[in-house]
Amino acid sequence: VTLGGKNLIRPAQASDLPHLDENDAQASALKYIHKSPYEDRNCSNCVLLQGEMGDEWRPCQLFPGKLVSSSGWCSAWAG
Ligand code: SF4
Repeated sequence: VTLGGKNLIRPAQASDLPHLDENDAQASALKYIHKSPYEDRNCSNCVLLQGEMGDEWRPCQLFPGKLVSSSGWCSAWAG
């Protein structure tokens, strides 16, 4: 499919996924927030985080189809 000569079909990429909403039912159940209240615990050093090191928004095993903030945190954090 093309429009104005641009190819509209791209391979699905993690970066295309929507950001997790803090008010999402599962997010609020796990107290997820975009900015961790802890100095030493955030999504970027949680074992459940996936995706590319250095990306600001990355997939998390607990929230399929969404991206969480690397600076975020939830109560399921595991180091
Ligand atoms: Fe962040 Fe929680 Fe996912 Fe760990 S489990 S990456 S703390 S959202």
